[in-house]
Amino acid sequence: MGNNKGISRRAVISGGVIMPLVSASAFPGDSHAAPPRKATGKKAPGSSLVHESHRVDFCIVGGGLAGMCAAISAARHGAKVALIQDRPVLGGNASSEIRMHVCGAHGENNRETGIIDEIQMENCHRNPGSNYSIWDSILYEKVRFEPNIELFLNCTCNDIEMGGNRIEAVKAWQLTTETWHRVEADLFADCSGDSILAPLSGAEFRIGREARDEFDEDIEPQEADEKTMGMTCLFQVRETASPQPYIPPSWANVYGTDDDLPNRGHNILSTNFWWMELGGEDDSIHDTERLRDELLKIAFGVWDHIKNRGDHGADNWALDWVGFLPGKRESRRYVGDHILTQNDVRAEGRFDDLVAYGGWTMDDHHPGGIRYPGKPTIFHPAPSPFGIPYRSLYSKNIDNLLFAGRNISATHAAMSATRVMATCALLGQAAGTAAAIAVRDGLSPRGVAEKRIAELKQILMDDDCYLPWNAREVPELTRRARITSGAGDGGVLINGIDRPVAGADNGIFMEPGDTVEIALRESAVIGHMRLVFDSDLNNKWLMPTYYPLDQGPRTVPGFMAKAYRIEVNNGSGGWKTAFREENGYQRLVRIPLDVRASAVRFVLEETWGDARAHVFACEIDQGNL
Ligand SMILES: Cc1cc2nc3c(=O)[nH]c(=O)nc-3n(C[C@H](O)[C@H](O)[C@H](O)COP(=O)(O)OP(=O)(O)OC[C@H]3O[C@@H](n4cnc5c(N)ncnc54)[C@H](O)[C@@H]3O)c2cc1C
Repeated sequence: MGNNKGISRRAVISGGVIMPLVSASAFPGDSHAAPPRKATGKKAPGSSLVHESHRVDFCIVGGGLAGMCAAISAARHGAKVALIQDRPVLGGNASSEIRMHVCGAHGENNRETGIIDEIQMENCHRNPGSNYSIWDSILYEKVRFEPNIELFLNCTCNDIEMGGNRIEAVKAWQLTTETWHRVEADLFADCSGDSILAPLSGAEFRIGREARDEFDEDIEPQEADEKTMGMTCLFQVRETASPQPYIPPSWANVYGTDDDLPNRGHNILSTNFWWMELGGEDDSIHDTERLRDELLKIAFGVWDHIKNRGDHGADNWALDWVGFLPGKRESRRYVGDHILTQNDVRAEGRFDDLVAYGGWTMDDHHPGGIRYPGKPTIFHPAPSPFGIPYRSLYSKNIDNLLFAGRNISATHAAMSATRVMATCALLGQAAGTAAAIAVRDGLSPRGVAEKRIAELKQILMDDDCYLPWNAREVPELTRRARITSGAGDGGVLINGIDRPVAGADNGIFMEPGDTVEIALRESAVIGHMRLVFDSDLNNKWLMPTYYPLDQGPRTVPGFMAKAYRIEVNNGSGGWKTAFREENGYQRLVRIPLDVRASAVRFVLEETWGDARAHVFACEIDQGNL
């Protein structure tokens, strides 16, 4: 997959000086990094702003979980990608700057897999203390060291060049380098949450709540309005071994008694204070700075209430961190070929072009936020899972614009369920994979919907994205082979479903020493083996909202395979080891083999602690020697 159009950089005139247009990346051994900038102009360094031009296949604005997953999936499928993110860290609301833990679909075995699971397992392996800087570093490295991605951090997209109904280029200002970056691409994706490319491109969008009649949504108000869910500055607290006094700033709000926080449970062990919310009745984009000031008064005031105004069992607890960047819940939502509604959600969204799923309730916060004394949100029930169609991920009227995250084409009601970040990550992976197909075949996003939807779904499932009510087609080489295991019915390992669904486990439990053997009818070149292990789909792997003294370590699940080998047999000379893993901790593993053999087997050697490992898939595909 992919094409030959690489990232090119051209010189432009800046302040009368010809500047070489290169990225000043200096990572040792980083093959896609350009050499350091050389001063060639007449002016002294620092005497002018710099303008750089870049050309990629696919440019993404916004590096929250949706944008990250879009970038990674497109890059892994061959597209040259630029990711523009206006913060120093990736992850958006999940980053250390905002610290929302990643939620997703409710219900047994419904946790999201694909790239978001890969990130979660890396975090289980490397971040036993659930430290936010380590989490940031994992998000960073997943993008920064992905070969086909050029990452622009601290870079705000704020301008656009159009050619008719197409975006030709976007422009972004990089704060740290005083550089204007212009990025040309065939396709763009807006994963900025606020849909910055909508006002710039003229893409159709909506803001606020639909009238109940428009889509027959009974949880919506009678009249349409421009109200949204608000934003929040969160805080985190830490337990210590001794009493910790707290002196609030003079400008903090005063909540003298519990009656000043009606319907706002504030036990530090049972809430993350998400209800410290404002902005739903304001402009959730343009009023952000003013609202931040109010939100900080609220955050410091609520902690003062807990520490100093009544017994809240918090004597030994200290304020560890306060977010100065408001986390946003809702602003512009694009209009695509399909607008997902409350009734689509309630009907389980069994679309033919289902490319992602949700499963959070329709969690519709009151726009008044903390000013509203009643319940701050209503959890309207939603089925889990429910499908989300690809047609909600590209613009109705801008030909080369995709989107993913909280800004997809959905009504306010449906978005109140799709906005959680594991769902956003799945949407990003779907949009990025679609973009790679579009780039490869010269199609528009809509062209992918019309001509390549089956392939898009198959690739997503192959990349371990669960698409409810769909089964992946397993490779022909596996289908024609005989699969056996002393540990159970090997047939479930090639049924195209890689998790327990509706009472069927779809996997086997193996003890160290157990094997899964795939015997071919005749010898063939085996390209790779695809394995899927269990990353514990009932554990949400949430990052903490508070840090107690007895916080247990984050660990790789005990039934994940840790050490294993692949052996091949070509009919003469017995089994030979073709691959050995000593420290595996990922759920989806693709092992390149490129050997001719008549049989291949997976041998489990060690788990991460349990007596048995849980295995969902063991397949081989044809290769070429
Ligand atoms: C207080 C709060 C509590 C929440 N609770 C939860 C929860 O418990 N679990 C959960 O899963 N979800 C929760 N949510 C919802 C969830 O965090 C958001 O819906 C989600 O972050 C959306 O993901 P995203 O990738 O679309 O956007 P974001 O996470 O907002 O990421 C978008 C990124 O784009 C960047 N960006 C914006 N404009 C530009 C630009 N012009 N140029 C370049 N970059 C730009 C932003 O800085 C940001 O980093 C909560 C939200 C809030 C605010």
